Amino acid sequence: MKDTQPEACRIRTPDQLRELVAQRPSGPCRCGLQRCGVWDSISDVDWPAAHMHCVADLRDPDIAEPSFEEYHPRGTRYSSADAPVALGYFPTNRCEVHRCTRCSRHWLRYTEFGGYYVDHRVRELLPDSIADLPAPA
Ligand SMILES: [Zn+2]
Repeated sequence: MKDTQPEACRIRTPDQLRELVAQRPSGPCRCGLQRCGVWDSISDVDWPAAHMHCVADLRDPDIAEPSFEEYHPRGTRYSSADAPVALGYFPTNRCEVHRCTRCSRHWLRYTEFGGYYVDHRVRELLPDSIADLPAPA
């Protein structure tokens, strides 16, 4: 865990993740990400860092290179709106969870590294999308 984010907690089970996002906002999103689709690219310029608070780290510190295996038991794809959020599977296994201090929504964020760029991908984390499965041992 990084010293700069002492409040970010490790999440190991789907229930812990659900607990984290259990408090859902009642109002509309005002953080600028409301039109964000599933795993849209959000550059550092567009990311509202001033009111995003990293609350959890879904990466396993014991795994240097997380798997690229995806979890789609019901025929969804990477960018499907109803694709499950599965701990231990790509891309959830590379994500941090950020809470917006304006609208209280939770956002998953991970970074893809290209040759000369980094690409931040963002998706809203909804409780119903969290898959019930144990993290791979
Ligand atoms: Zn917001």
